[in-house]
Amino acid sequence: MTTRTLITGAAGLIGSHLCDRLVADGHDVTALDNFFTGSEKNIAHLLGNKRFRMVHHDVSLPLEIDRVDEIYNLACPASPGHYQRDPVQTVKSNVMGAVNMLDLARRMNATILQASTSEVYGDPTVHPQAESYCGNVNPIGPRACYDEGKRCAETLFFDYHRRYGTHIKVPRIFNTYGPRMSLNDGRVVSNFIVQALKDDDITIYGNGGQTRAFCYVDDLIDAFVLLMKTPADVTGPVNIGNPDEVSVKTLAECIVRMTGSRSRLVYTGLPADDPMQRCPDVSFARNIIGWVPKVSLEDGLARTIEHFRKTLSVRLSPIVEQPSVARMRAGSHATLRVCN
Ligand code: NAD
Ligand code: UDP
Repeated sequence: MTTRTLITGAAGLIGSHLCDRLVADGHDVTALDNFFTGSEKNIAHLLGNKRFRMVHHDVSLPLEIDRVDEIYNLACPASPGHYQRDPVQTVKSNVMGAVNMLDLARRMNATILQASTSEVYGDPTVHPQAESYCGNVNPIGPRACYDEGKRCAETLFFDYHRRYGTHIKVPRIFNTYGPRMSLNDGRVVSNFIVQALKDDDITIYGNGGQTRAFCYVDDLIDAFVLLMKTPADVTGPVNIGNPDEVSVKTLAECIVRMTGSRSRLVYTGLPADDPMQRCPDVSFARNIIGWVPKVSLEDGLARTIEHFRKTLSVRLSPIVEQPSVARMRAGSHATLRVCN
């Protein structure tokens, strides 16, 4: 029987690539988004597909749906600039979104995957970070709406699992990037590429010595699909990321070189609570799902640079809205009961 799959946050970076993968794998996909950061453009190419439907909905509100076998709960802005833009809504998306989607999973006896994050480790004092590390999070800082929201969502997932036997999968995602990031996303990879392609100054926050480990989106999607297929007793949390750690300054230099840019590196203030080092220990993922990332930083950046080159050149041409997108806009609702 065809697997009916709900993806929340489906119009964002990760969600839209997951939609492509699961539709190609033969799932019936219901894609849900409130378009806070996601874009209709990211899923417009799927709208004519009979295996795909789009629902305009906010996960902080309850959702009724007739049947669902698998839920991927991704709805939440991921870029610090965007999640701090409306911090109360960020907490609601994480906490009320988790309750609503877990209730749905429980009613439907569905398996639910939560897009958790390396931010649960905060500014880590243990390096690299393994799943056993409980983290170092400032609960009242500007990043807390996201970090604590995601931590509380994990708590809810494990309580539903223990209390009600809900089937859960909890990947902790480390910095993931790729095509379909928006020009104004604000995360480091997209900012640096867009600045480099425009020969603008590259804005390094702090001295650029802070580190991250960047995972290409296709690798992450492979891990999601493998994790969803694991037996019920495999819950995670499990780190998913590329352990190739680089400093922010090295990333900037790499992008300037790859784009042939004339941009200069400029240094500005480091945001509050910005983690100084981050790198996943992925041995657990290797053991339980046999997953290791395949795409090198250089290859992933090349594909992402290509995406932004195209986006920037299209922006110079007049914008023509695709008819499918216009139809979807006309048919969108604040809340919706989905019947198949
Ligand atoms: P994104 O901002 O590109 O996508 C998030 C999507 O969720 C957007 O389409 C947005 O419109 C939607 N959304 C936000 N709030 C919503 C709500 N209340 N109801 C419905 N839709 C809502 O981000 P992404 O990089 O694709 O991240 C997807 C998920 O993965 C997020 O939960 C994020 O926290 C998690 N994650 C991502 C990374 C990363 O580096 N990309 C790292 C750790 C965790
Ligand atoms: N950063 C930067 N310049 C930018 C955007 C981000 O130097 O234009 C830094 C940011 O301070 C952080 C790192 O790059 O140290 C990664 O930031 P991002 O927002 O991509 O993700 P985070 O891991 O902080 O959530």
